[in-house]
Amino acid sequence: MQYDVVVVGAGHGGAQAAIALRQNGFAGSIAILGKDAEPPYERPPLSKDYLSGEKAFERILIRKASFWMEKEIDLVLNAEVISVDAKSRCVKLSDGRSLTYGKLIWSAGANPRRLSCEGGGLGGVHTIRDKADIDAILLQLENGCRRIVVIGGGYIGLEAAAALRKLGCDVALLEMQDRLLARVAGKELSRFFEVEHRRQGVDVRLGTVVERLVGEEGQVRAVSLADGETLDCDMVIVGIGVEPAIGPLVDAGASCANGVRVDAFCKTNLPHIYAIGDCAAHLNPFADGAEIRLESVQNANDMAVTVAKAITGNPQPYEAVPWFWSDQYDLKLQTVGLSQGYDSSLVRGDPQERSFSVIYLRYGEVIALDCVNAVKDYVQGRKLVEAAMRPDIAILADASIPLKELVALTQA
Ligand code: NAP
Repeated sequence: MQYDVVVVGAGHGGAQAAIALRQNGFAGSIAILGKDAEPPYERPPLSKDYLSGEKAFERILIRKASFWMEKEIDLVLNAEVISVDAKSRCVKLSDGRSLTYGKLIWSAGANPRRLSCEGGGLGGVHTIRDKADIDAILLQLENGCRRIVVIGGGYIGLEAAAALRKLGCDVALLEMQDRLLARVAGKELSRFFEVEHRRQGVDVRLGTVVERLVGEEGQVRAVSLADGETLDCDMVIVGIGVEPAIGPLVDAGASCANGVRVDAFCKTNLPHIYAIGDCAAHLNPFADGAEIRLESVQNANDMAVTVAKAITGNPQPYEAVPWFWSDQYDLKLQTVGLSQGYDSSLVRGDPQERSFSVIYLRYGEVIALDCVNAVKDYVQGRKLVEAAMRPDIAILADASIPLKELVALTQA
């Protein structure tokens, strides 16, 4: 099989790259290779309303099945790429098939980290990344499983805990760090979510190290902790981060660190090969120019547009402002910017009222906002981040003054 563009990965980045190519007038042949058996679907609902049963699978498809045919984009499913030959421009699949390409867009995402301790491979131990992961969890729930231990207090762990509490499960959540969301947010937000999850009945345990998982007839039955305690359970959900899916590109000689290195146009050092999304390590202006990977839908979609423009002869550098969101119970967390490396922060509004924002600054410039049930702050605060504004701190902290007024004042 031969295509002008082969996209590896049918997640947000891969799907959007193909869509954006057509939107930018690309008339050549396109194939999207997906490891799953499913057409491209949204991942964020997996740990939210797909898990809680509020959204059926058809409602989380990125496009209807007919769309791909109409746009003459071939979906090649159950297709796992095991090698890339950059010289002959050929990818090989695990089932023996191979495809040649004019341009290759690597959008393979990331794989969930697995527990390395004893018992990590027992039945009833799940990660959350694909539809199949959630279907396996839902099947166990249907069979009466109710006692669940969630390992990891990042977005995956917290969203899963919230969805499972909604379904009436007993949930214990174990985090190794001394606070939740330690990788992505400041202490004020961590503390807020800790209080909320406890209030909702989650047994949150911080600074907790898992020693091993204990099984019976191949099925997990308990989690044994380093402090000697044992938590009985019927299911374990592991949300302890991800590793970029870059093996075949590393073997092909791509420059890689924590991810495949790409330039501002998402080009790797290998000819005709681009990389986008979770697996792409890039210099990001919103991270003070540091080389980072961004694990978000925004990054996947915006890099997809960057790559489509580059391939269609209209290159524009990737400079999109990062944003994220998370839904837990009745709380909508919206984040704009990257808070890592902040040197001061302030809280705007009152966490007790469950509507507030945490604003992060570096050298006096606003670098990020975490907004909880505070949509206006999120929308209006975006300008502060985009333009790295240095607003008056007293006004910034005064929730009675809309951020748009502060933006106008600061610009004046
Ligand atoms: P994550 O954000 O890296 O959080 C995992 C947490 O688990 C970290 O605090 C980690 O601590 C901790 N941990 C690691 N090993 C542990 C262990 N053995 N026992 C207990 N805790 C342990 O990753 P995630 O929550 O798994 O999410 C995976 C990816 O999906 C991320 O890219 C995330 O951003 C993305 N996602 C995003 C959203 C959203 O934007 N709303 C929602 C869901 C998922 P260390 O940092 O010390 O390793």
